Amino acid sequence: MTTNCNFCKISNREKPALIVCESENTISFLDKNPISVGHILIIPKANYVSIYDCPDKILQELISETKRVAELIKVKLKTDSVNILNASGKNAQQSTKHLHFHIVPRYKGDNLNLWFQDTEKSPVSLEGVFKKLTCSKSKSGKSPAKTKKIRRMMPIPMDEKNEKLLPPSVKRT
Ligand SMILES: [Zn+2]
Repeated sequence: MTTNCNFCKISNREKPALIVCESENTISFLDKNPISVGHILIIPKANYVSIYDCPDKILQELISETKRVAELIKVKLKTDSVNILNASGKNAQQSTKHLHFHIVPRYKGDNLNLWFQDTEKSPVSLEGVFKKLTCSKSKSGKSPAKTKKIRRMMPIPMDEKNEKLLPPSVKRT
């Protein structure tokens, strides 16, 4: 199959890359333009554009493999610090239309800052956003066990004195 996508070409072995790890559905290789020593890109072998069209199963494999790569970095490059970056969508500055995560090893004194710099804080109220964003039920809607788990992940009201605010299933530890 021919494609113009460089990442597809790498996963099809039509274009050379320094591949450091591979699993059934993912491949990890050194970034051609590294911003730190050991800067790696991990991609699904199939051409999913972003997290939005990538199946959950593949995303799970991607994050597990990301951990495997981070552990490889830890052992071989002697640093226990990485940043993991993804752009999904053009407003997020996605340039290559093939899902990928950057795994960027960080070293003491490397002077990189990949966090939010010199940006204006969004003026939107947190409560308004929270009302729109709350997950109400599990994705499948089938498994009571899963639903219970998701409920427990919901934010717990912060008022320590008013225990009535807490959902009955949530116990403080
Ligand atoms: Zn591709």
